[in-house]
Amino acid sequence: MEFIDPRSFLFVASLLGLLCAMVLAVQARSFPGEIEGLGDWAKAVALIACGSGLACLRGVLPSFFTVVVASAMFLFGQLLLIVGLRRYSGRAIHWRPALDILGALVLVIIWLTYGSQHYQGRLFVMALAHIVFSAVGAFLAWRAPPQGFGSRFLSGFFLLGLLVALYRIATLPAVVDLTDDIFDHSLIQQVYLGFFSLGVLGLSIGLILLANERLRVELEFMATRDPMTGALNRRAFFSRAELEWARGKRSRQPLAAIASDIDFFKKVNDTHGHHVGDLVIKDFCQRTGEMLRIPDVLARFGGEEFVILLPDTGLAEARQVAERIRKEIQKRPNKSLPAYTVSLGVAVSSGAPGQPASIEALLAVADEKLYQAKESGRNRVAG
Ligand code: GH3
Ligand code: MG
Ligand code: MG
Repeated sequence: MEFIDPRSFLFVASLLGLLCAMVLAVQARSFPGEIEGLGDWAKAVALIACGSGLACLRGVLPSFFTVVVASAMFLFGQLLLIVGLRRYSGRAIHWRPALDILGALVLVIIWLTYGSQHYQGRLFVMALAHIVFSAVGAFLAWRAPPQGFGSRFLSGFFLLGLLVALYRIATLPAVVDLTDDIFDHSLIQQVYLGFFSLGVLGLSIGLILLANERLRVELEFMATRDPMTGALNRRAFFSRAELEWARGKRSRQPLAAIASDIDFFKKVNDTHGHHVGDLVIKDFCQRTGEMLRIPDVLARFGGEEFVILLPDTGLAEARQVAERIRKEIQKRPNKSLPAYTVSLGVAVSSGAPGQPASIEALLAVADEKLYQAKESGRNRVAG
């Protein structure tokens, strides 16, 4: 049965692969350096594409190129896919054992091509390697951040590759009487090659999707966060606060704000240096963040000034939260940092007449209370 020409299959796979490799290479160059592994993927897809290109020249070029070199390219390409995924996920790379195993596999391929001339043996070795690479790839892709559609899509295509390789091994006995002939026009071989081309394309698209989702997440993070502490910045605070304000009004729940400012912070800088000052700010942010609930918002408004927004929280509860923060901060669990204290001002509004009528008004009241806390001696809560 003959409905597709395998040589054309491989040729198309090769061209598509090169195109995908080009897109990945462009992304590798233009993406921020923190997103690693894209360069490996570009090389991996280019290698697999060139391997397909060589394989489709079977009969034209000597089998050393179309079998041995092509197989080595497939294997090394798949290894680079895994290396790229590990790098992308921030995992360590162990080149030495991987290259040793790869070298041994290539020697086996050479033996099966020229020594025993065992066509099925060669298919078996390649399919087995494909299974191992696909299983590892599926696992790494599933775990790759952000675990959204791109990660699932990529993992799915690795699994598809695994299934196809299993299918290839299961159907090996069917070609028992065939000699070395990748272009045997058997249905099995056509299905295999078809899925192989589709697989390379699918993997490339998955990698591109994954990296783009990661870029979006990182850009969003950079646009909404203070780089030093990771707390929300002013702009992101106000967009979240407006949402909470509207939600609170609808559900008639109070919204609380706490303005905080570290006491005598100039002295910390003067005595211990700006660097230690920075560490104190980070310490404050981390410890305060750990004391908040999921819907609460912590934002850095300036040097050592933070604002906390507490949805669905009344005055008494907000005062308790502020007091808990004040007590925790004066504890000094990290002895490498100087002791410091914080003053906090609390304000609440449920939108009723006489209460602050906007987020800005709410923050103005919290600031006023903070000023009172400072005036009456610092290291205290007012509101
Ligand atoms: P008070 O108790 O009245 O708040 O006294 P204070 O010394 O803390 O006064 P203030 O809040 O006005 O001081 C803020 C200081 O924080 C001034 C500035 O030099 C310093 N500062 C602002 N941003 C940073 C920063 O990112 N890192 C460090 N280390 N210092 C900063
Ligand atoms: Mg200040
Ligand atoms: Mg201060």
